[in-house]
Amino acid sequence: MEFKVIKTDQPKLENFDFSDIPFGKYTSDYMVVAEYENNQWNNWRIMPYQAFPMLPKCTTIQYAQTIFEGMKATLGKNDTPLLFRPELNIKRFNLSAQRMCMPEVPEAIFLDAIKAIVKLEKDWIPKGKGKSLYVRPTMYATGDSLGVKPSETYRFIIFTMPSDVYYANPVHLVTEQKYIRAVKGGTGEAKTGGNYAASLFPDKLAKQKGFDQILWLEGDAFQKIQEVGTMNLFFVIDGVAITPKLSGAILRGTTRLNTIEILQDKGYQVEERDIFIQDILDAYHANTLQEAFGVGTAAVVTNVATITHGDLKMVLPDVENRPIASLVYDEIEGLRNGDVEDTRGWMIPVE
Ligand SMILES: *Cc1c(COP(=O)(O)O)cnc(C)c1O
Repeated sequence: MEFKVIKTDQPKLENFDFSDIPFGKYTSDYMVVAEYENNQWNNWRIMPYQAFPMLPKCTTIQYAQTIFEGMKATLGKNDTPLLFRPELNIKRFNLSAQRMCMPEVPEAIFLDAIKAIVKLEKDWIPKGKGKSLYVRPTMYATGDSLGVKPSETYRFIIFTMPSDVYYANPVHLVTEQKYIRAVKGGTGEAKTGGNYAASLFPDKLAKQKGFDQILWLEGDAFQKIQEVGTMNLFFVIDGVAITPKLSGAILRGTTRLNTIEILQDKGYQVEERDIFIQDILDAYHANTLQEAFGVGTAAVVTNVATITHGDLKMVLPDVENRPIASLVYDEIEGLRNGDVEDTRGWMIPVE
């Protein structure tokens, strides 16, 4: 599909300082926009990044009918922009839409729209390993009625942000035994704003106690491990990589899937299974807890330094001795900048 482009007369690109890009601060010049009305998507266009007015009784403000995705475009060899398995994000976006009772975006148009904005904003993609143009598809209700029912109108936007290497220092975790991120049957599998809103208060309490992120447990027994912060979680115990199996409350991370497939490819044993905090305590005491790391699009891999559970602080091996986390990071970043050959057909060039 072709997208009409409405030009900006104030491009920011020329004066943009690529040597210092704080995460999440700067957007590029343009965004894709479409509106949903009369049961269909209309008015597809690319226009300058800007605000849209919203009435106080808008369904998004009152009832949080809103979803998003997060993905990255990078420069491969010969500076060709590359997308990393965008179909996973597109499918997940539409699953989130279903759960939040919102209209789906047709997959082919969605992919065309991502390609169009990345192509137009190619010069916004920072060069260098680990750097990227972060792509944020977003949909929100624009309905203007206080009734508790799905909105009849929506806006779909894809905006982009240049991002530097996200150096994640090893994180100190604390298990959360009062608050719950998501429950089976809830909205934990959807990438929806409400999940994030609900996590802010427990996250603030954890930070006040000196921790970086929360190790989320399944309520209300608080034994089964779900995720860490806003990432999926892997442990390596005795050479075997394990990650919580999808339960309906765990976000279906694309990096989680990539990690599983990469490790299996490289001959590692990977298990998706229920993991209880007791399993981790046992491995820690038996000296077989070798690695723990979060995975997600932003930082790719975030090593865990310590896990505090009640009175016990488990200190994990030095990050220099984390071969599996390093392998995953190097493979994914290598694919993204073309240093690693794409034998799996994951990378989609934007030409
Ligand atoms: C987005 C997200 C992840 C990571 O998903 P990726 O597709 O790997 O970026 C994990 N957990 C939560 C709660 C998320 O919102």
